Amino acid sequence: MGLCNLNQVLHKAQKGKYGVLATVLFNFDFTEAVLNAAEERRSPVILMISEPLQRKYSYFNFKRLIWPIRNMAEESSVPVVLHLDHGQNYKSIIEYIDSGLTSVMISGSGDLGKNINKAKEITEIAHKYGVTVEGEVGAIEGEGGLEGKTELKSKQEDIEKSYTKLEEAKKFVKNTGVDSLAVSIGTSHGFFKSKPKINFTLISELAREIEVPLVIHGATGLSVNDYKEIIKRGIVKLNYYTGLITEATEEIKRLVNTRDYISFTRLNHESMQAVNKKVKWLMDIFGCTGKA
Ligand SMILES: [Zn+2]
Repeated sequence: MGLCNLNQVLHKAQKGKYGVLATVLFNFDFTEAVLNAAEERRSPVILMISEPLQRKYSYFNFKRLIWPIRNMAEESSVPVVLHLDHGQNYKSIIEYIDSGLTSVMISGSGDLGKNINKAKEITEIAHKYGVTVEGEVGAIEGEGGLEGKTELKSKQEDIEKSYTKLEEAKKFVKNTGVDSLAVSIGTSHGFFKSKPKINFTLISELAREIEVPLVIHGATGLSVNDYKEIIKRGIVKLNYYTGLITEATEEIKRLVNTRDYISFTRLNHESMQAVNKKVKWLMDIFGCTGKA
């Protein structure tokens, strides 16, 4: 097991009809919390570095995490993918590949032709290195890889406007050779403004017509039934980040408000325990528990 690319994990998930959790990393503590949960649940997991998050938090070069995490993944008894979330352009994506990731996402642009050209060029190079590629058709609302700030909450009309179009998705996959596809079916990055309306019919149509594994971003905040239905209809990679960091923040708030003194070390430890617990809860719902 250990270090894998996206295909090694997602093709199995497609056959077994379960979802795999993908989340964004920013330090070792969080990585350990997620990775330990995956091992405890005997589940595959996708660990991501987010280019937009890196741009926001420049105090630390996330690339420095990659080789140590590669070592952690190699030693792990479960399959671990090291993936780039929202790679922005050719130059930056190649740099992340050189830094040791096993998989990359190319953020989609509005124009289908440009989107295809960019994805085709990057996919050709990535495949030479055994690196898998996730493309994107239909913009996913909100700011990718960033936190769900109030002003970033997406409106239902905006989400619906950006639904993935089946014909565009087919054309994109055929012409680029990408290994997986992020689709817009009603989720948005960060939190939702109102109860999300998932287009389940669209998921089924996409899954029927598109061979490569399908991905959703912004999986935070759906109901347990929604997760199960989404996965049943063919989504296999679920990007879930906001809900995990919120879990840590809530635990820190609770501890700070109930104690006279608490060390940062204790806060860190307890909040990471909360993340670990939440990851296990998600893995049970997504059905990837026991699939390592
Ligand atoms: Zn995203």
